[in-house]
Amino acid sequence: MANSNPPRNTQTPAEPQVLDSLHRPMRDLRISVTDHCNFRCVYCMPKAVFGTRYHFVGHDGLLQFDEIERLARQFARLGVRKIRLTGGEPLLRPHLEDLVESLSAIPGIEDLALTTNASTLTPKKAEALRKAGLQRINISLDALDEDVFQKMNDVGFPVARVLQAIDDAAAAGLNVKINMVVRRGLNDSQIVPMAEHFRGTDHVLRYIEYMDVGNLNGWQLQEVVPAQEILARITELWPLQPVEAHRYGEVATRHRYIDGQGEIGVISSISQPFCGSCTRARLSPEGQLFTCLFGTKGHDLRALLRDGAADEEIYARLQSIWQARDDRYSELRATSAMTDVKKVEMFHIGG
Ligand code: SAM
Ligand code: SF4
Ligand code: SF4
Repeated sequence: MANSNPPRNTQTPAEPQVLDSLHRPMRDLRISVTDHCNFRCVYCMPKAVFGTRYHFVGHDGLLQFDEIERLARQFARLGVRKIRLTGGEPLLRPHLEDLVESLSAIPGIEDLALTTNASTLTPKKAEALRKAGLQRINISLDALDEDVFQKMNDVGFPVARVLQAIDDAAAAGLNVKINMVVRRGLNDSQIVPMAEHFRGTDHVLRYIEYMDVGNLNGWQLQEVVPAQEILARITELWPLQPVEAHRYGEVATRHRYIDGQGEIGVISSISQPFCGSCTRARLSPEGQLFTCLFGTKGHDLRALLRDGAADEEIYARLQSIWQARDDRYSELRATSAMTDVKKVEMFHIGG
């Protein structure tokens, strides 16, 4: 049944928490550890814009691992239970496992995950990350067809190396999910082959609607393939059934193959916005806190840290930022108030 949406879990968790102005708790922290990337995905960092003259955050500007850990401890006190490391390409940050180790030791953090293009993920690195406390890894792969994938990453990176990295991550004991951004006319031909490839494996494939993050990717609504169309194309071959959300604030809706060959997820930020249960805070590589993926202005936490603020001061600042939060960009997208705003870029803040 492709056309019925699985129920989202909209029950607010019972734990102590800080609530924003729309009564949403803070539960997830996404940490972008770098804005550098070795890919030039056409929907994220198009080559024409991100050439050699583009100014990325320099080494001194980046939050250091101990600074990230200090902030993460205060986020955890406010209710964060889940941390995802992202970028840019997070594995370009040397010794990322050291950060994973310190974050996994923070009281309250129950889930630690990483999103990566996997281009530099070796078996040794996967093992080191898992040993340091990483539980889950989302590997981005937009196509199985070599030409299509290379057109998307735009640096000639081969499909086979990503498939190998997926196997290596699983062999190291990491729970692996696959992220596929779907852009009409570019890789929608790959919706069914990707489903076929990952059906019957332990890896959940998540289709992501192409989003208007930032202002530099030339996003157009007609290039979005809506979730219902993605599901319809798959269900024609392998019928699907909606599955209830595991937890409050889950971004992907879940669908199970009726023939028992596993499940897929769909992230429908454009066609079915989910701001009502959005529990995500986002930290940029230079320590700006954003309370929405489509934020226009961050809050400078690096200055607070480097000016010598005590932990209680940081805690109070985070609390007041969250309490004032009223973001719901995706729900307002269609209104004129949201056109022409300058937004933070995806490669900067992470997905
Ligand atoms: N470089 C890593 C990677 O690609 O997995 C992590 C950062 S990337 C910004 C995080 C996720 O955002 C990836 O799965 C990527 O495909 C997705 N993404 C990037 N730009 C997007 C867009 N405009 N719409 C939807 N998803 C996007
Ligand atoms: Fe790099 Fe990830 Fe953006 Fe692709 S989606 S350009 S891999 S940050
Ligand atoms: Fe959350 Fe902003 Fe996305 Fe809405 S648009 S779901 S508030 S990140």
